Amino acid sequence: MPTELDLGPDARAFRDEVRGWLEANRPEELLGVDAEPLAVQRLPGAETWARRLHEAGLMCVSWPKEYGGRALGGVEVAVLNEEFARAGVPRLTRGMGEWLVGPSIIVWGTDEQKAHFLPRIIDGTDRYCQGFSEPDAGSDLASLKTRGVVDGDEVVISGQKVWTSGAQAASMMFCLCRTDPDAPKHKGISYVLVPMRRDDGSSNGFELRPIKQMTGQSLFTETFITEARAPLFNVIGGLHGGWRVTMTTLGNERGGNATTQHVQYENQFRAVLAEVRKLGREKDPLVRQHLAWAWTRVQIMRYQGLRTLSEVVARKEPGPASALNKMFWSEYAQRFAELVVNIRGADSMVLPEQQSGSYEPDRWQRSFLGTRSVTIWGGTAQVQRNIVGERVLGLPKEPPGER
Ligand SMILES: Cc1cc2nc3c(=O)[nH]c(=O)nc-3n(C[C@H](O)[C@H](O)[C@H](O)COP(=O)(O)OP(=O)(O)OC[C@H]3O[C@@H](n4cnc5c(N)ncnc54)[C@H](O)[C@@H]3O)c2cc1C
Repeated sequence: MPTELDLGPDARAFRDEVRGWLEANRPEELLGVDAEPLAVQRLPGAETWARRLHEAGLMCVSWPKEYGGRALGGVEVAVLNEEFARAGVPRLTRGMGEWLVGPSIIVWGTDEQKAHFLPRIIDGTDRYCQGFSEPDAGSDLASLKTRGVVDGDEVVISGQKVWTSGAQAASMMFCLCRTDPDAPKHKGISYVLVPMRRDDGSSNGFELRPIKQMTGQSLFTETFITEARAPLFNVIGGLHGGWRVTMTTLGNERGGNATTQHVQYENQFRAVLAEVRKLGREKDPLVRQHLAWAWTRVQIMRYQGLRTLSEVVARKEPGPASALNKMFWSEYAQRFAELVVNIRGADSMVLPEQQSGSYEPDRWQRSFLGTRSVTIWGGTAQVQRNIVGERVLGLPKEPPGER
């Protein structure tokens, strides 16, 4: 069970309310589920649970009330996360719609765009995937080549995206495309919300090729786009004005989930502790040293998360310090998964017994394999270091052509 922060009388009252609601409503079929958010969404019962959370006003809780959220601050979100962890059920969210696109529309959208798109995210009508990365544009995202051509009151988009997480389950893509090829590279990009299907149900020019990951899952795709059409109304931040919107989205990707990290890792820590006891290794001084290292990191994550969220409250969006958050949790998760493999020894190297032909790593093997990617997505660890160096510490910028 996660340790509880005492955050004052208001937070205590909120904790009681959430705890009571969860005791009465938590779904038995999702108790103790431990999986990545994209995988959880595919489980039986997840859809119904998401609907119940929506009806109870527990989706998009950090959004301002005027846009259908509950305007919960960092402290309350931390409490909410802790209570879901305590109840042993996943806190389903509206995924990228809730923590990436919605907050970017709130900052940059027109009133009409807010009124149209935000309710559709909250009630689950629109499910988003992120069409940013391309084969030759990852860290250097502004080099993207996907084209957007204005045709009447529509933008027509063609190009290739890659690593598109959750594309198979999405109905909309927030897509970056170059609408002014003659402008300097950061100035000719538009941020477009593109429907992935037409009204008649046919594909709106999207071809998705799933990529098999070493965990055995296929949670992302290569995405080929041929003349996908979106109304000009769906361009956020104005035509060619997509870069500033992108910065808001990336800031949220790195810092927006700051309070969720420690709960997840505290639970994981306790599960490893149980495993260590099962293996009879709890008195091994080396194992104890590793566990002490991990525990202190989880606690740092908790306080760092609250700090990032205070920054969000003050600035309305995460600042460059969110890069610290991304760097810290991703490197921790990777190192911890390695420690668990070491502690378990030979058991880590053999797949659990399973039907021939299937490939199903156990929880710790999946975590070891899966965490290789966490220092890459959402901006690599090296890029986060550049941001912290240049924009938090004020160090000189990387000279052009150094890499
Ligand atoms: C699991 C996973 C899910 C993803 N999901 C999505 C998604 O849903 N949508 C999406 O659009 N993208 C997604 N991505 C893509 C992700 O955003 C990119 O992989 C990431 O931005 C890095 O880009 P790249 O892979 O092209 O590597 P590159 O940018 O080519 O980097 C290669 C290496 O060079 C280093 N490097 C690059 N530039 C610098 C620099 N200036 N200083 C120092 N070092 C540098 C990098 O750190 C890295 O080690 C996902 C990736 C993964 C692994």
